[in-house]
Formats: sequence, C-alpha cells, structure tokens
Amino acid sequence: METHRRSSTNSVRSHKPARPIALEDDSTKASDALPLPLYLTNAVFFTLFFSAVYFLLCRWREKIRSSTPLHVVTFSEIVAILASVASFIYLLGFFGIDFVQSLVLRPSADVWATEDNEVESEVLLRNEDARHVTCGQALDRSIRSLQPPAPIVTAEKVFDEMPVTVMTEEDEEIIRSVVSGMTPSYSLESKLGDCKRAAAIRREALQRITGKSLSGLPLDGFDYESILGQCCEMPVGYVQIPVGIAGPLLLNGREYSVPMATTEGCLVASTNRGCKAIHLSGGATSVLLRDGMTRAPVVRFDTAKRAADLKLYLEDPENFETLACVFNRSSRFARLQSIKCAIAGKNLYLRFSCFTGDAMGMNMVSKGVQNVLDFLQTDFPDMDVIGISGNFCSDKKPASVNWIEGRGKSVVCEAIINGDVVRKVLKTSVESLVELNMLKNLTGSAMAGALGGFNAHASNIVTAVYIATGQDPAQNVESSHCITMMEAVNGGKDLHVSVTMPSIEVGTVGGGTRLASQSACLNLLGVKGASKESPGANSILLATIVAGAVLAGELSLMSALAAGQLVKSHMKYNRSSKDVSKVSS
Ligand code: ADP
Repeated sequence: METHRRSSTNSVRSHKPARPIALEDDSTKASDALPLPLYLTNAVFFTLFFSAVYFLLCRWREKIRSSTPLHVVTFSEIVAILASVASFIYLLGFFGIDFVQSLVLRPSADVWATEDNEVESEVLLRNEDARHVTCGQALDRSIRSLQPPAPIVTAEKVFDEMPVTVMTEEDEEIIRSVVSGMTPSYSLESKLGDCKRAAAIRREALQRITGKSLSGLPLDGFDYESILGQCCEMPVGYVQIPVGIAGPLLLNGREYSVPMATTEGCLVASTNRGCKAIHLSGGATSVLLRDGMTRAPVVRFDTAKRAADLKLYLEDPENFETLACVFNRSSRFARLQSIKCAIAGKNLYLRFSCFTGDAMGMNMVSKGVQNVLDFLQTDFPDMDVIGISGNFCSDKKPASVNWIEGRGKSVVCEAIINGDVVRKVLKTSVESLVELNMLKNLTGSAMAGALGGFNAHASNIVTAVYIATGQDPAQNVESSHCITMMEAVNGGKDLHVSVTMPSIEVGTVGGGTRLASQSACLNLLGVKGASKESPGANSILLATIVAGAVLAGELSLMSALAAGQLVKSHMKYNRSSKDVSKVSS
C-alpha cells in the first residue's frame, strides 16, 4: 500500500529528471510522522469494520427469527454501527483517494516513461516488455509474429520535452509507413540515404509503436554515418557516459592520462590515487609476454581416428609453413603463430593463434581460419566444419584456456611502492597490504573457485578504459583475468606490487576505435590508429596502459580496504551526503 501511495504521488510530479533511487535514498513520507506504522492502523480498522459488520448481521438475523422490530437497537448495536461507519470512513479515505487519483490523474504516455518509480516501473517493464517477437523484429513490423500479436498500448503521438528534429510532411508519411509495417525500420538508411534522418524517423516511429518517450536519449550531436554497417544497426540515439581522467600514470618512463568512461563514483578518483602512488614511487614497468588473437573452429569426422589424423597433421612442424602461408593471405598484418588442437571423440577443436597488428583481430583471425579450413578440405574431404567458432577460442566467456594459454596481449606490470608513499598517499601499511592481498586476492579467490579472478577489481578499470577507447566491452570477461601479487621488499620497508594479465584484447584500428569520441581518447594516449613505424606497436602500448591502470586501481582499492575506508569513500562519491549521514549515524 505504501508503495502504491508513493507511486501515485510520484506520477504527478514526475517531470523532474529521471534518477535512479537507491533504496535508502527515499524521501520522508507523511506517514512517518504517525505514532503507529500504517500497516498496523490499517489492520486495526479492517478488523474493526468486519467485526462490527459481522456482529450487526448476526443481530439482524436473530431479530428476524424472533420477530423483533429492526429499529429497536441495543447499546452494543449502536456501538457496532458507529464503529462500522467510522472504520468505513477511514478505509474509504485511505484507499479511495488513491483510487480516485489514479482515475483523475492518470499520467500521459510520456510521463509513464520518465517516471522514476523503481518498483512500479519494474513491474510495468516485466509485463509490457514480454516480447512476442525477437529483438530485431521489434521495430520491423513487416515481419509478422507466428503467435497472435500481443495487445499493443499505442499512443497516437508522444512528444519529447524538446523536439529534436522538425519533421516534414514527407517524414510524417514515412513514420506512418514504419508504424504500420509497410516500411521495414532497418531499410530506412538505404532508402533515405541520410543516416541522421533515418535515425530520427525510426526514433519517432518507435515512440509511437511503444507509447514510450525517448526524451533523455539524445539524437543530435552524433555522426550516424560513422556507424553505418560497422558499429550499430537501427540506431535511435546514443547513450552518454561521462569520461574521467586518471593520471598521469608513469609507465615505462612515460606519462599517460588514462580516460575512463564510467558511471561508478569513486572509480576514477581511486585509480587516480593509485597513479599518484606509482608516480611518487618512480613509476611502473610493464612487459608484453605474448601477443596473439585466437579463433578455434570445431570440425567433425566419422571416426576419432580421422580426427586424430588431422591433429597430428596440424601439429607436424613441416606442415605449419604451408598452413601459415595460406592463413596469412587473409591480411597483410595477420601472422599465424600456432595451432593447438583438442579432441573430444571424433570432434576436433583447432585453436589458431595469430598476430593481428594494431587490430584486436577477431575479423582478421576468422578470415585466416576460413582460408585454412578451405585448404584442408582437399586433404581431408571427410572433414565436416561444424562451426568457425567452437568455443575453444574462447571469446567473451570465462575459460581456463585463456587464463593459461593467453589470448590477445599477455602483460605483466609491476612497481615498487615506497613505504612512505604507502603510509602518506595510500593511508595504510606495507604489512597490511601484503596480508590482505594474500587472504583476499589469493586465498579468498581460491576459496571461491575463481577463474582468473585473483584480483580486487581489475574488471572495473578494464571496462572503463575499454568503453572510453572503443574496445569491445564484452571482452572484459577474459581481459579482466588478472592475478595481483604483493610482497614486502627492501627489508619489509617497501611494497612490490604486480598485476599479471594473460588475455588483454585490445586494438587501435577497427571496431569502435574509429568513432570520434573513442578516437579522441586513443589520441590522448598517443595510440590512435595504426602505428606507422611498427604495426602492432599502438595496440601493444594500449594493452600495457590498461595493465598499468589496473595496477593503480588495485593498489588504491586494496589500500582503501586495508584502511577500512571503502564504505566511507563510496558513500562520499557514490551516494548523496544524506546517505552518508545515515550510514555514519
Ligand atoms: P578486427 O579484426 O579487430 O575486427 P578489422 O579487421 O575490422 O579489425 O580491422 C582491421 C583492418 O585495419 C584491416 O582491414 C587491416 O588491414 C587494417 N589495418 C590498417 N593498419 C593496420 C595495422 N597497423 N594493424 C592491423 N590492421 C590494420
């Protein structure tokens, strides 16, 4: 009931900007002032009402049986009548007002959409977003669902608070055509030849189809041509993520300002503090251990013997040269490094590893693998290619093969943090850090059965840098594999800290790296585009910077934990001050 009452009042004043509400971040309710909790008062009045009515009905039946006139009432009956009337008035006032408000003040379609009531909007989402079509079909009304269409709540026209684009008569006609299903939404770019206009029309059509407003999701200020056929299909706008700067990170004698795209308060500040500690201690050093992107197709034979024949063939060094030539034809940058095979019965998994220059390399390696598979078909005509990716690669899934063998760039990064810096900047001691690292990152993760997760929060830094620099954020799964080691050195005075990351998957060409914002962040790091001097140098440098930033992040968070500062700093940077006072009190 409390939730319900709150939702109705929220809907009335929901023009304030949408903001996620933390559970503790609730505003004070009028009911807080009551001496008894509302549910207790409600229960009392419910009981009173039903007891009184029940009593009166019983009395009424008795009077009918004994032929007593109904207007002759005893004192107890008068009390029961008064109690039922009073409780009825209370209940009517309590529940009735909400009901009437919900009828009279029913919000408009766009008010619903921007309402920031978590509970109710979650229920709405669950109910209304139960799709009967797949994601790609959602806007493509030309594709009819096999199931009977779900009833669609349509709003004739949903107005943004500030209309971003003025629609012409012709646009209006196209919108109607998309809404009716005559024009597939995906074809707008090719039909109109204007990506921005296509996005604006699709957006308006989407709002009409769903009855939900997209105000808050910007449309203007983005180059839609730049993503066509490369980065995102059927765009309707773009999400803004703030970019903060941590640094300078002193790494291998050079300073880097590290861009981090995140909405997690504290993250940039914390990484920045780690950078400061590293800088004051003379900097960090990172070394590339290995550089090879992998792809592992799965092929099937009629017998395990034939699968083993191919395994032996691929592992014969004499055949490797030929296969490498075939593979490397896929790109002037691709260089096959190895093929590692694993058999499961008559199925064979071939893990190709290859150098991909400055590209992250998934496309490049896939093309090379396809070349080799075509080539092998001549000598192994009974080989049935089941899939170009058989998950032994392994892309975007936690897997031991990446943790042990590496994928993309394998990097180790270290620093010796001066004991004074540990005390003054990190506000803890070498001893505490070493002990915490052993019990948390090593023992604790072992107890949890971690796979590559022997660290405090590598994925936080990896993901923020990936989003800022146009990497594939889904690859944070394996890119965040990291073991953090801490050891007291120089007679226990200073701290040796290192992060070992076997599968950092980054590129400075291809994918999202060419987009304006991401490209600016790469430029800030001095790794934009392809390296002119030495192909691959830019992506390698980016991988070492990622490891350096992770080192800084690990140092700072571990120190905050060791000093017991974590909750306090998160309350300060991640929550409103109101919450902090609640927590501290
Ligand atoms: P990915 O394989 O990471 O998905 P793409 O294959 O989409 O990347 O992009 C790589 C493209 O960039 C290739 O066409 C390649 O020829 C080109 N390229 C230009 N310079 C370089 C370089 N230094 N390293 C790698 N690729 C490069």
